[in-house]
Amino acid sequence: MAAARKHRIAVIPGDGIGKETTPEGIRVLEAAGRRFGFELQLTEYDWSCDVYAKTGKMMPDDGLDQLKDSDSIFLGAVGWPGVPDHVSLWGLLIPIRRGFDQYANVRPCKLMPGARTPLANRTPAEIDFYVVRENTEGEYSSVGGRMFPGTDREFVSQQSILTRTGTDRIMKYAFELAMTRPRKKVTSATKSNGITFTMPYWDERFEEMAKQYPGVTTDVFHIDILCAHFVQHPDWFDVVVGSNLFGDILSDLGPAVAGSIGIAPSANINPEKIFPSMFEPVHGSAPDIAGKWVCNPIGQIWSGAMMLEHLGEKEAADAIVKTIEVMLAEGGPRTRDMGGNAGTVDVGKALAEAVAKF
Ligand code: ATP
Ligand code: MG
Repeated sequence: MAAARKHRIAVIPGDGIGKETTPEGIRVLEAAGRRFGFELQLTEYDWSCDVYAKTGKMMPDDGLDQLKDSDSIFLGAVGWPGVPDHVSLWGLLIPIRRGFDQYANVRPCKLMPGARTPLANRTPAEIDFYVVRENTEGEYSSVGGRMFPGTDREFVSQQSILTRTGTDRIMKYAFELAMTRPRKKVTSATKSNGITFTMPYWDERFEEMAKQYPGVTTDVFHIDILCAHFVQHPDWFDVVVGSNLFGDILSDLGPAVAGSIGIAPSANINPEKIFPSMFEPVHGSAPDIAGKWVCNPIGQIWSGAMMLEHLGEKEAADAIVKTIEVMLAEGGPRTRDMGGNAGTVDVGKALAEAVAKF
């Protein structure tokens, strides 16, 4: 028998319900490994707000060094009341995203059976798209400053920076993703009618990239009307690409349109695989329900499926997503947020069993 394919995974459960969802994610990933012939080598890190309270650091100074040889990072959630967001964000998430050049933030927005979309009368076939956000530059450049503070000449400015490399590589990622999808369509989020240097450049690079993908159809919307279309015409979209700020907005709006926060997955990807990519549910640590073991583990499990796809285990990844869909459609166990009364572990176990039999 051929040796099993091995994937080294760094697991960071983090805070709150992250500690409840990650074990269920691992349970399903391991079931998929047994079924599809790969092995996971897991290393767990306790980096979290608890550790911050004891050590003053979210992760050790050599944290990135410890993670760099893993193939992927599987994260639960970080953040806890009492620890300011900028500490948990800038102490852990941002250093990992930036240090490992995870420039594509990718969120599938797919309506699952039984998910509570706020849009009336929408069927799963009508909401099935991806938001691709540029994750390293653009509006979040931190270049700028305040002049003449406290005087009546006071002013502030902040630069938005688009590099050709940074713009082209996120466009390319979006087009490549569209090529793997049946509809093969990319929508660009812009605002070139109001932001007169960077956004026309964004449009220009989008058009340029589109020429290299004649099989992909494209359209372009200004961010304001695009937000309205997400709500009114979610069926128009397949892959939507946005700059750091516009992508940030759309990557919260998209999963919201697709229903329950508990099931939405996300990925921070370094497509060239020079560095590990990171996979985490969209939701946070949910202090209001943490410790009760009632949270929905599906966002974590689906993030695990995205991780497997990135690691080249597409068959296993598809099987997990399909299993989630079938379980929800057939009235399998569901947590409170989806109108059921199952616990976190019940849902994880049911999915692991179904994946094993896939
Ligand atoms: P962030 O930490 O990203 O800022 P947040 O604090 O805004 O997130 P969450 O922690 O995601 O928000 O929680 C928002 C609401 O959604 C809470 O009421 C929480 O209980 C609920 N929620 C979040 N994740 C889940 C889940 N997996 N299952 C059930 N409910 C969830
Ligand atoms: Mg929070």
